[in-house]
Amino acid sequence: YDPMKRPFFRAIVRELDEKESIPPQETDPTDFKSRFLKKIRKLGEGNFGMVELCLYDPKGDQTGELVAVKSLKTENESSNLRREISTIRNLYHENIVKYKGICNDEGGANIKLIMEYLPAGSLKEYLPRNKSNIDQKRLLLYALQICQGMEYLGSQNYIHRDLAARNILVENESLVKIGDFGLTKSIKDDKEYYKVTEEQDSPVYWYAPECLINRKFYKASDVWSFGVTLYEIMSYCDRENSPPQVFLKSIGRSHGQMTMARLVDALEKGWRMPRPDSCPEMVYTQIRRCWSHAPENRVDFNSLIQEFEFFLT
Ligand code: ADP
Ligand code: MG
Repeated sequence: YDPMKRPFFRAIVRELDEKESIPPQETDPTDFKSRFLKKIRKLGEGNFGMVELCLYDPKGDQTGELVAVKSLKTENESSNLRREISTIRNLYHENIVKYKGICNDEGGANIKLIMEYLPAGSLKEYLPRNKSNIDQKRLLLYALQICQGMEYLGSQNYIHRDLAARNILVENESLVKIGDFGLTKSIKDDKEYYKVTEEQDSPVYWYAPECLINRKFYKASDVWSFGVTLYEIMSYCDRENSPPQVFLKSIGRSHGQMTMARLVDALEKGWRMPRPDSCPEMVYTQIRRCWSHAPENRVDFNSLIQEFEFFLT
C-alpha cells in the first residue's frame, strides 16, 4: 500500500510544494518599477541632479504614494548617484531625509534614488515664503535639528560637504531634515579628514579656509558650513543677502577669475560676513564660533546642540 499513489494525498503534497516555493515577502519594497512611477512635477535641481515629485502607483488606481525621485541630468555621472545612494541608505535619523529605495530597471546608467517626499521643499524656498509666520524661536529649532542630524552623521564618520539652506528640507513647520548627500564622503577610522583629489564644482561660499586652500575636509569643515547655513536661516534666506551676494558686494564683482583668490585672501585676513539685521547678537556669537580660522578652534555640533537647547528653554 503506497498512500502517495492515491490522488487525494498527491494533491496535498503539491499544494505544500507550491506554498514553499513562494517566499512570504513576494517583492522587495525598495525595488521601484519605472513603469509605475508617474511624474507630477519637478521639485528642484542642482549641479548634477534633478529631483521630481512622482506618484508610485503599482495598482494604477491613484492610491499610490508620493515620493521624491532623484536622477542625474547626464548619465555619465551615475557613479556619483550610486555613491549617494550607498550613503543615504545607511542613515537612520529623524533629521535626515529617509531613503525608500531605487529604480534601476531601465539599465545601469539610469539609476534613480527614491526618497520620502517633503512637501514644503527646502528652507531656501520655505523661509522667504513663510517669513511672517516664523519667529526666531522657530529658526533656532531648525538650527537645533540640523545640528542633531549632523552630530549623527559625524558619529557615522561621514562629512556632508554641502550643508546649505538649499539642502535642508522642510517636513512641516516644526521639523526639518538634512538632504542631498551628493558630495558626502566617509572618512576612515584612522583619518581626521577627507582630501579631494579631482577638480569639481564646489559651493565655495559655504567652505572653510582649509577646504579652499588644502582641499581637506574635516568634521569641523561641516561646522563652518553650518555657520553659513545658520547665517542664511537667520536672514530668512533673503536673496539680496545670500552668502555669494554678501561676499561679492564686499570685494566688488569685477574680478572674474580672481574671485576665488580674493575669497581665500579675505577669509585669511579675518573677514567674515556681518551679522544680519534680523539676527540676535547671541546667535551671531555662535555663528562666529563656527567660523574660527583653524578647524581645531571651532565649536563642535555637540556644544552647539547644548547652546540651542538652552536658547529654546
Ligand atoms: P542636487 O544634488 O542636484 O543639489 P538635491 O538633492 O539638493 O539635488 O535636490 C534639489 C532640490 O530638490 C532641493 O534643493 C529641494 O528643493 C528639492 N528636493 C530634493 N529632495 C526633496 C524631497 N525629498 N522632497 C521635496 N523636495 C526635495
Ligand atoms: Mg542640493
